Amino acid sequence: MTATTATAATTPRLDHFINGEHRTPASGEYFASTNPATLETLYEVARGTDEDVTAAVDAAHRAFRDPAWAGLTATQRGRLLRRLGDLIGEYGDELALYESLDNGKLLREMRGQLKSVPEYLYYYGGLADKVQGSQIPASNLDIINFTMREPLGVVGAITPWNSPITLTVSKLAPALAAGNTLVIKPSEYTSRTIVRLAEIASEAGFPDGVVNVVTGYGAEAGAALVDDLRLAKISFTGSTATGAGIARSAAGRFIGCTLELGGKSPNIVFGDADVDNAAMGVVAGVFAAAGQTCIAGSRVFAHRSVYDELLEKVTRRASTIRIGNPVDDDTELGPLAFEAQLNKVKSYIDLGRSEGATVHYGGDRPDVGLPGYFLQPTVLTDATNDMRVCREEIFGPVTAVIPFDTEEEVLRLANDTEYGLAAGVWTSNLQRAMRMSRGLEAGTVWINTYRAMSPMSPRQGFKKSGVGIEHGIESMYEYTRLKSVWINTDEGPVADPFVMRG
Ligand code: NAD
Repeated sequence: MTATTATAATTPRLDHFINGEHRTPASGEYFASTNPATLETLYEVARGTDEDVTAAVDAAHRAFRDPAWAGLTATQRGRLLRRLGDLIGEYGDELALYESLDNGKLLREMRGQLKSVPEYLYYYGGLADKVQGSQIPASNLDIINFTMREPLGVVGAITPWNSPITLTVSKLAPALAAGNTLVIKPSEYTSRTIVRLAEIASEAGFPDGVVNVVTGYGAEAGAALVDDLRLAKISFTGSTATGAGIARSAAGRFIGCTLELGGKSPNIVFGDADVDNAAMGVVAGVFAAAGQTCIAGSRVFAHRSVYDELLEKVTRRASTIRIGNPVDDDTELGPLAFEAQLNKVKSYIDLGRSEGATVHYGGDRPDVGLPGYFLQPTVLTDATNDMRVCREEIFGPVTAVIPFDTEEEVLRLANDTEYGLAAGVWTSNLQRAMRMSRGLEAGTVWINTYRAMSPMSPRQGFKKSGVGIEHGIESMYEYTRLKSVWINTDEGPVADPFVMRG
């Protein structure tokens, strides 16, 4: 492991990456990172505290003003991003394996994600010199008024464990393209690829201090980063509860924040849908990645005319899902990412039972010959939209299948949630698809597909699913501030200082 320092113990250690070099934690403490499939200790992670965060923000703050970074043209920044994309492409297999070992997601899926990560860097690398100000028509012909887009400064990026590199690059790429510097606090469960990302950024030629990583726990390193008064912005992906605290802190200091939070997304199957495809869409929506995705389609609404058929097809496919070690090529469902996550998901299944839902399929721990945090894909029936299992984010392979009769009814049920991240609709009726796209209160709506994503397509969580936009040109604007410059071309005397106007 290039990102680690050797120790007397056999377990490798992962240190912070600050100002272009690895740094041991000021506390001297490390904690173990565990493979959730085998329960083996993979490595020890530096336990970051205030002191480490301060050093990282110092470095990022200096780098923001240093001509080595501030003196680059937007085109030069774009070139660095494209070089980083090339290198991530080269190291893709190594990074995919680290992610799979860390969070238990399928190696196949992580390889696929790592193939798309360079696309984010190429996209924002290309955008770096295309985000521009504009000239504003003035009401006074002597005035030239134009806008400039400037970088913000030091961005604090805090990211979760479920797709570590993709979700981090979603912030890093537009932030760097716009000329900011970064301090990243990855999830305590998946630090390895994010430290590696900073190393690779150095190799690509980003100056020291532009990309810094402090590892550690949320309540320690994360909170210290959020509290650092020199941050110009916080960009966070994680749970709604943590996001709410971060939003309060940012509001108190009048700095911006982008928050990508939780979801409880509806996946709606109408009577005129291709039920085979819809069933696969339901499986993809909630059993892929063991349901540990913010966009999990965890409330399936099926029109009564196709309810039995859909339930049968989803259950049949669920029962043939191959559960096992995520690094094996034929595995379809890996473990949950850590023990507390497994316990949380199991407790929601118990809660569903106690609320009156039926566990139609799954609900148990399968025997896969490994000691890890495995759980069967689980289908709940007899659930209603007002039960807690249908209102709270479970973040596991659990979905409720609920019948409905009319379009108006399902639209009301789908929108009857605190969240608004994504929604799926399965129908062959174009007019209905358009009506649903308009009516659904969700930042992303998929028609006859699910879980599609691209760096070019902006996404935003509505309601408690977030604030601000990630991906697309719109995300670049989140990392810039707009300045309006007024130039008076008239050299004559000011006629009346008490009515000086444009
Ligand atoms: P989490 O909120 O527990 O942790 C996210 C990050 O915040 C981690 O790095 C953690 O260490 C840090 N953190 C925790 N407490 C903190 C604090 N007090 N101050 C500062 N940082 C703190 O979330 P998680 O369990 O890692 O991730 C799962 C959640 O992320 C789910 O709710 C999921 O829906 C959401 N998510 C959202 C998106 C999206 O794009 N909307 C994408 C992926 C995941």
